[in-house]
Amino acid sequence: MVLIELYVSVQGESSFAGLPCIFVRLAGCNLRCSWCDSEYTFHGGEKFTLDQVEQKIAALAPVKLVEFTGGEPMLQERELLPMMDRLLNQGYTLLLETSGERPLANVPKPVHKIMDVKCPASGESARFHLANLDTLTPRDEVKFVISDRADYEFTRDFIRQYDLAARCGHILLSPAFTKTPTPERTADNCVLDPRLLVEWMLADHLPARLSLQIHKFIWEPLKKGV
Ligand code: SF4
Repeated sequence: MVLIELYVSVQGESSFAGLPCIFVRLAGCNLRCSWCDSEYTFHGGEKFTLDQVEQKIAALAPVKLVEFTGGEPMLQERELLPMMDRLLNQGYTLLLETSGERPLANVPKPVHKIMDVKCPASGESARFHLANLDTLTPRDEVKFVISDRADYEFTRDFIRQYDLAARCGHILLSPAFTKTPTPERTADNCVLDPRLLVEWMLADHLPARLSLQIHKFIWEPLKKGV
């Protein structure tokens, strides 16, 4: 498995936000989202065996919540899926952050999938693997990163067209964050003002929750490994 970093922090997003969490960041991504904050994962990384990854995670006990993220972790599915099985057997709770581009049918059922649906401003909205909607359970979460009103309307229509609230546990709406933030830990670094997004959500009675990347408000926005 080729990793960029493995560390413990608090979870910054999703319904698990705020909980201590071990992050396993895998190298490589086949998308190029316009607002990507993880371009440092596109190249490089260090290769580890599954035993070595397991030992690194065990060394961060007592934390039992692990997120696999990237990049796109499912590009390394051959190693990732057996790694997940190992950790599930040891009682870990697992999160998988994924772009939704790779088929997810083989992800072990107990894993909490946090799946993106890419909006138009990302430049990658055509890459979504629609059949992944059929893999969702109440354990899973679907995330939309929203840059503007057009992205919001895409999100609203997608939620309604596919009855998303009935398919998954949480729908997350996250304002896109600028790629060139100031060091200040402020919502002014969001491309879309969260206040505006909240107004739109409430006006449309969307069955969704606002999701801010809280690590970018706790630490300087460009800080890695947190
Ligand atoms: S899928 Fe994630 S890592 Fe890949 S380009 Fe998009 S935001 Fe970046």
